[in-house]
Amino acid sequence: MSHSLQALDRAHHLHPFTDFKALGEEGSRIIERAEGVYIFDAEGNRILDGMAGLWCVNLGYGREELVTAAAEQMRQLPYYNNFFKTTHPPAVKLAEKLCALAPAHLNHVFFTGSGSEANDTVLRMVRRYWALKGRPEKQWVIGRENGYHGSTVAGMSLGGMAPMHDQGGPCVPGITHVRQPWWFGEGRDQDPEAFGRKCATAIEERILELGEEKVAAFIAEPVQGAGGAIMPPESYWPAVKAVLAKYDILLVVDEVICGFGRLGEWFGSVHYDLAPDLVPIAKGLSSGYLPIGGVLVGDRVADTLVEEGGEFFHGFTYSGHPVCAAVALKNLELMEAEGVVERVRDELGPYLARRWATLSDHPLVGEARSLGLMGALELIDPASGERFDKALAAGNLCRDISFRRGLVMRSVGDTMIIAPPLVITREQIDELVTLAREALDETARRLAPRVADEPQPEERPE
Ligand code: PMP
Repeated sequence: MSHSLQALDRAHHLHPFTDFKALGEEGSRIIERAEGVYIFDAEGNRILDGMAGLWCVNLGYGREELVTAAAEQMRQLPYYNNFFKTTHPPAVKLAEKLCALAPAHLNHVFFTGSGSEANDTVLRMVRRYWALKGRPEKQWVIGRENGYHGSTVAGMSLGGMAPMHDQGGPCVPGITHVRQPWWFGEGRDQDPEAFGRKCATAIEERILELGEEKVAAFIAEPVQGAGGAIMPPESYWPAVKAVLAKYDILLVVDEVICGFGRLGEWFGSVHYDLAPDLVPIAKGLSSGYLPIGGVLVGDRVADTLVEEGGEFFHGFTYSGHPVCAAVALKNLELMEAEGVVERVRDELGPYLARRWATLSDHPLVGEARSLGLMGALELIDPASGERFDKALAAGNLCRDISFRRGLVMRSVGDTMIIAPPLVITREQIDELVTLAREALDETARRLAPRVADEPQPEERPE
């Protein structure tokens, strides 16, 4: 069964972010079902999903309440749109719920089908806002190198992933990128707080280069997710806020990953006290059970769009899709009723931080960091204390070993990252850390210079 599916997959399916040829040769792993924090593949292996799918299954797998919410809404009204002065109860109730959960100045939401569409919407709204304010020359958006804001043309242009720009260019004009606050990768020789301030200064320098009258917005994730679970030094965000306020520039905080409890608050902006103007969301909004995203819009922008805007020529067939909205609403209600976010903040985040930090004594680990239920390990060559030779692809090796041993841990270069479902228990966190250590051990053995002719220890078979 799994072999024939693999053959069909190879024959017909082009996977996202994948070297099609290499995957075809290797064959894909088929995930058949899931329960709680575990996924099960076609061979019957149970794997702890340390990435909550793609950072989205916040409530964990197998929640019947979400299945029921979807089925009931499908029977009631499987589809209708929100164009042309119509709406439906799930979209309205979800909008109300989101605005109640968000900081007080965020009182409107524009729905999309994904995080990428949310960021396309951001770009259009930001430029529209300044045009309505009589300042159409305010066009530039400043993003960050190694930031991720999606894979549509606007999403990848706002993001700072060089390989995506190389393949997808030319990017949308009027977007520029400044350095990221990745202390381990780019500032290890400096005091972390001084480095954080320097990264904020880079924004000010770019504003002055472009001309402050031409800069519309700055966009960033509270903690870079896809870039490698990068928590900025504590000095960074306060300094960034001060720069943006000085030049009257909108702040867009991409909460697609950090929203809905990941950092121990409903929004990462709350953790860092950011008061953003626009907030793209997706993923954990529905715990990934159905695709839905959106942009929370602060009063400053919403008042202008509503009072002075006229028709906004933008929207998607599935903006606020009733079934997706019903599931998202139920997901938020369950998270609230079960105190999921508070538990991450008060109990699970601090517990993971303690347990994850124990990995820093491993010879392969240069830094172990975490915030809420997001963590990263920076791999280093124990012989030199520096990064491994890129050609060794140590991160990918560690990821593959980890998966085979029963833990989904992702690699971004030689940074290993985790973001498990928010319903993980302490015992399961222990299991996650044990499996991560075993994966590191096996990676170290595989990377160690091999003694000629000495038989290699048999690793656990596939
Ligand atoms: N923004 C951020 C911060 C993300 O992490 C992602 C997806 N990983 C996106 C936007 C794009 O979301 P989607 O894949 O739903 O289009």
